[in-house]
Amino acid sequence: MPSSLLGKAAQWYGKRGYPVFPLHSAAGGRCSCGSAGCDAPGKHPRISRWPQQASTAAPMIFTWWHRWPDANIALVTGEVSHLVVLDVDPRHGGDAAIDEVQSRFAPLPVTVTARTGGGGWHHFFQHPGPRVPNSSGLLGPGLDVRGDGGYIVAPPSLHASGASYDWDSARHPATTEIAPLPTWLLALLVSSPRPKAPLDPRSPLADVVLKGAGEGQRNTSLARLAGHLLRHRVDPYVTLGLLQSWSQANCRPPLTEEEIQRTLDSIACSEARRRGGLHG
Ligand SMILES: [Zn+2]
Repeated sequence: MPSSLLGKAAQWYGKRGYPVFPLHSAAGGRCSCGSAGCDAPGKHPRISRWPQQASTAAPMIFTWWHRWPDANIALVTGEVSHLVVLDVDPRHGGDAAIDEVQSRFAPLPVTVTARTGGGGWHHFFQHPGPRVPNSSGLLGPGLDVRGDGGYIVAPPSLHASGASYDWDSARHPATTEIAPLPTWLLALLVSSPRPKAPLDPRSPLADVVLKGAGEGQRNTSLARLAGHLLRHRVDPYVTLGLLQSWSQANCRPPLTEEEIQRTLDSIACSEARRRGGLHG
């Protein structure tokens, strides 16, 4: 059996179905890759083809950590592990940015959380099914997301600062459920990057989105917004979440869930016909 702490932890992840692979280590602040100017000490892969090679298999994990007992642990995110991780890095303004995001949308739910060796936080969420891309700064400065095709450095890996990655003891994976990814967060993550220029204030749809709608215009506005989102290939599930949020925030009074669902169904049918994807 692997005797190193990191080897044991890697096996623990593998047993729980999380694919792992070995990273370089950064003992004493120097990366084991040997490059004096390494820009990601202890954070880059020690194997060449990690997307293919990451593994949950005990013999594979044993072999890696037998060879490199001090290798940091990469835990693969995305559909393969059913994980999406939000990385809050206070060194790049992540603390203020996550406060702002939460006050604009909703507080993050209680979920499994790790303290990173760099003084930040990794919040773990269940992967929602639709593809979640990796992103850096999309939600705000210092906020990175690791989803499909990504990985995070997992406890108890050692950071170049000398601090280790550790579970928040009140939010340890052995005792805490991983929360589903909130719908509003998913919507932010799968939408297109923020436009460089603000929405044209003369655009009629911008009026719909920003100013909202009174009783006489709610259904027409809802249908236009739904049509716009579906035509831009926003996932219908995400579209539903956005329409609900929009209605709550901008309609006086808000539309009922049934009204929103009915309109979305009808617009989705038209859109499917438009794409020629509806047969029979
Ligand atoms: Zn390196």
